Amino acid sequence: MLDIDRLRADIPAYADADGPPPVFLDSAGSSLPPRVVIDTAVAHLRREAEVGGYRAAAERLDDLAAVKTAIATLINADPSAIALSDSASRSWADFFYSIPLRPGDRILISGSDYASNAIAALQRARATGAVVESIPSDDTGRIDLAALDAMLDERVRIVSLLHTPTNGGLVNPAAEATRIAHRVGALVLLDACQSVGQIRIDVAELGVDALSATGRKWLRGPRGTGFLYVRPELCAELEPGRLDLHSATWTGPADYRLAPDATRFEFWECDVAARLGLGAAVRYLLDQGPDEVFAAVAANAAYLRRHLSAVPGVTVRDLGTEQCGIVSFTVDGVEPVEVRDRLRAADITVTVSHRSSTLLDMSARQLDSVVRASPHCFVTTDELDRFLDAVDRVRRAAD
Ligand SMILES: *Cc1c(COP(=O)(O)O)cnc(C)c1O
Repeated sequence: MLDIDRLRADIPAYADADGPPPVFLDSAGSSLPPRVVIDTAVAHLRREAEVGGYRAAAERLDDLAAVKTAIATLINADPSAIALSDSASRSWADFFYSIPLRPGDRILISGSDYASNAIAALQRARATGAVVESIPSDDTGRIDLAALDAMLDERVRIVSLLHTPTNGGLVNPAAEATRIAHRVGALVLLDACQSVGQIRIDVAELGVDALSATGRKWLRGPRGTGFLYVRPELCAELEPGRLDLHSATWTGPADYRLAPDATRFEFWECDVAARLGLGAAVRYLLDQGPDEVFAAVAANAAYLRRHLSAVPGVTVRDLGTEQCGIVSFTVDGVEPVEVRDRLRAADITVTVSHRSSTLLDMSARQLDSVVRASPHCFVTTDELDRFLDAVDRVRRAAD
């Protein structure tokens, strides 16, 4: 069992609060880090100011290597298959833009795909003559595996799978979809930005060719961090669209050699303090026991879903059969931004997910926006109840 008091004592936002702490339900946006993350990053910034960034980094080479080791442990990969970056979008694009495309090649995106991924796919389609098509969703809102199967032919080069979307609790059957896509040799790029840190990820089991994630969401790391996993055998064949003296070595007047592993997807310069903070965040998760953290997230979200759907005038909007820590809902007669703002006035943090972030899915469901509540493992039942009461007040005020 997780010791929630210990977890909360590790969070400055709670430990240092006088009075009732704010109700924090935005781990799908940017979560609350444990103290060790802040201490690690701040200590490094101070050290850089004392001795300069190069010497400060040289002192932490082992810890920097351990960042990848921790991530690799969490997702069951080899550390050499991990490339660190500054965001999930960067990592996703770094991989995506390294796949050669020819006129007539097909790029399949998920029905709940994320705007940045879709925009990148459309941009490359314009530049290369490839086409972008979306994979239908089934009645439950999950990716339709039979439809995916029927769409496939050898022109399909890339399948962009969304593990869990930004706008709700849906969990897609990523392993099954990957197996189907591989039947025609398509490459599968999994957007795991909303799943890493809140549901179990095993890249060997999933079988994906690449996976992208961010640091600040469920992993509770600093902003400006993210990572890419690339299947090692595939990585050796890929040439990133942009290189520097870290991703490659200048070996002769007319020659260079790519880094042998996923490092080829990294640039040399980075925010070392943030990276060390990310390592501390992942290590913290590993120390707590990821499975227990994931179970606590799921239990909190299930509690919210159950009680929200019992409030008259409130509609839970989550799709799928298996659901994760993101709870999306609307309130009759009150715009989602209005719900968010009224909750904020009661010191409750939720966010709004707009149609433009997941255009295909929201358009299909005729939704302009939804309220998104995403409780991490450290949120108490008492706080969930405060949130539920506040939603009920918002709803009654609209009558
Ligand atoms: C937040 C999010 C991203 C983008 O992550 P960044 O770190 O902001 O680039 C990608 N995909 C999904 C599903 C997201 O929710």
